[in-house]
Amino acid sequence: MSLSPAFLDELRARTLLSAIISPSVKLLRAGREWKARCPFHNEKTPSFTINDEKGFYHCFGCGAHGDAIRFLTDARGLPFMDAVKELAGKAGLEVPAPDPQARERAERTASLTDVMAACQKWFAEQLAGVDGADAREYLKNRGIGPATVARFGIGLAPEGRNKLKSALLHLGEDKLVETGMLIKPDPNEFKGGETYDRFRAG
Ligand SMILES: [Zn+2]
Repeated sequence: MSLSPAFLDELRARTLLSAIISPSVKLLRAGREWKARCPFHNEKTPSFTINDEKGFYHCFGCGAHGDAIRFLTDARGLPFMDAVKELAGKAGLEVPAPDPQARERAERTASLTDVMAACQKWFAEQLAGVDGADAREYLKNRGIGPATVARFGIGLAPEGRNKLKSALLHLGEDKLVETGMLIKPDPNEFKGGETYDRFRAG
């Protein structure tokens, strides 16, 4: 089930974070914030701060950080939806019914992310392959070593207009167009024009 970001923002805005945390931890006023001994790690002097205006807590000792939902899931062990329901109940908000459109968008985004990952992997393979020798030499001369290439996922777009397209067409031509990996000619300019690789050498 996915909740809209707008609902979660509304929920956070209507929630006083210190009131959610105070039953579990003794809070001390510290200017516009609250301080407490961190519930996430063992400490004698308080390094856990709560900012009600921003709706976030932060621990300078262990780095624990989050909002009211996160506090309930991490400190109290509630499942995400239970945390949302508890906060919504306190705030007098009704948890909206699942939004099928939002879910569809989320799934579509996830699948486009997978398509991009597959393209990146393919470009990296081209750089590592036989045809990548010149490009590897070029990177070497620029002082870009294998570790940097791996870290940034650098790849090579080979010559030709259909190399990526023919290798990854199984991912779906429309998705390759949507991610920008294939160019679809404007039908007003080129009627029936075939899609082709955006990134290509030569
Ligand atoms: Zn801590």
